[in-house]
Amino acid sequence: MANFDKILIANRGEIALRVIRAAREMGIATVAVHSTADADAMHVRMADESVCIGPPSSTLSYLHIPSIIAACEVTGAQAIHPGYGFLSENAAFVQIVEDHDLLFIGPSAEHIRQMGDKITAKETAEKLGIPVVPGSKGGVPDLETARKTAAEMGYPVIIKATAGGGGRGMKVAESEAKLDNAFRTARSESKAAFGNDEVYMEKYLQKPRHIEVQVFGDGKGGGVHLAERDCSLQRRHQKVFEEAPGPSISQEERDRIGSICANAIAEMGYSGAGTIEFLYEDGEFYFIEMNTRLQVEHPVTEGIFGVDLVREQIRVAEGYPLSFTQDDLTINGHCIEIRINAEKLPNFSPSPGKITQYHAPGGLGVRMDSALYDGYSIPPYYDSLIGKLIVHGRDRPEALSRLHRALGELVIDGVDTTIPLFNALLAEEDILTGNYDIHWLEHWLAENLE
Ligand code: ADP
Repeated sequence: MANFDKILIANRGEIALRVIRAAREMGIATVAVHSTADADAMHVRMADESVCIGPPSSTLSYLHIPSIIAACEVTGAQAIHPGYGFLSENAAFVQIVEDHDLLFIGPSAEHIRQMGDKITAKETAEKLGIPVVPGSKGGVPDLETARKTAAEMGYPVIIKATAGGGGRGMKVAESEAKLDNAFRTARSESKAAFGNDEVYMEKYLQKPRHIEVQVFGDGKGGGVHLAERDCSLQRRHQKVFEEAPGPSISQEERDRIGSICANAIAEMGYSGAGTIEFLYEDGEFYFIEMNTRLQVEHPVTEGIFGVDLVREQIRVAEGYPLSFTQDDLTINGHCIEIRINAEKLPNFSPSPGKITQYHAPGGLGVRMDSALYDGYSIPPYYDSLIGKLIVHGRDRPEALSRLHRALGELVIDGVDTTIPLFNALLAEEDILTGNYDIHWLEHWLAENLE
């Protein structure tokens, strides 16, 4: 065990602030890295030190490994927290970090690799006793194999990139007539996005919910689960509204899938935070992937358990045991997060620019994770997420009315945002009752917005 004196955060925006806050509470100094476009960003202002690592393009800055390693060496940072996105699931990066006698705050390169390739991930999950979506055995090399596999499974089917992420390289074929086109498109999208055109196939579930289990491993054979989040409200396979616990999940189901996941993590010897993602339909869970990092939506889990997941990540990286056991973890109330993007409705087109006024909501049970401030200019180069509003209530109805109240207080002027979407959603009966699946939002958008 070695307490860190100083860590570097290889990220930007709200997640960089999130990590700085946890580190500061632990008495650890922080180093921010930034591109030239982010010189005035909040994470740079809030960290104890900062290093400019390159021009605006993320390939030349936030993804540029030599600059990040050099920033550690210059500042004497002992460990790197990757946040989410960017280098957070890059096994080669983890290896390089370790080769330079630095520590990566996250799982081992081997575990990241195992879960990064989706075919290997599914095989690993199956071996660990996790239920998976029915699908092809490994990659599907050509159209003929795709036809055969689809005929065996029955339509509709979904073709997915082996190297996939962020909902890209994914195509649904409702029938054999549509398979050819879907197969080709998935392959070319996947080649363009990930430099790898291998795809695999799954049965396309018609009305599942997206349920993901938060897990934590101590790296020494211990593992716990922190229940589930329901992230079914998605647009183009991207989450926009998340809640914990899942409104459709009973305590019995939670215990069952939770202990399957916790046991798997323990058996793997996994270290740090992870999320095991499932589609859930008719009382069955089907594994789709595992994310070997902190998720955007982690605050809803923090809210219902009252634990700081980033602090826990840092402690595990320092070599400490988890600060809680499974028995310590009891759910308290209900939490909802909405993702606020700088985007113009109805097309969700990016809307960067200067924030003329920003006012964050407050009060009991309200948390706003955002790197905005009055006069800040949102650069056009990065993700359009500008804030997460998280509310906690004693139960789901209280969380919903708190969200409604907090949205009323929130002011973000100067750019277009997705706030109006959430005001509209909170008037929908299905949202109020928790009656939605992964297609609900797309249908609603088609009828009400686009
Ligand atoms: P990514 O890594 O790109 O996010 P995932 O495998 O996690 O890809 O899938 C993202 C989303 O795509 C899921 O939350 C779900 O909405 C949809 N999806 C994925 N696989 C299936 C499937 N077999 N049937 C129906 N929907 C699916």
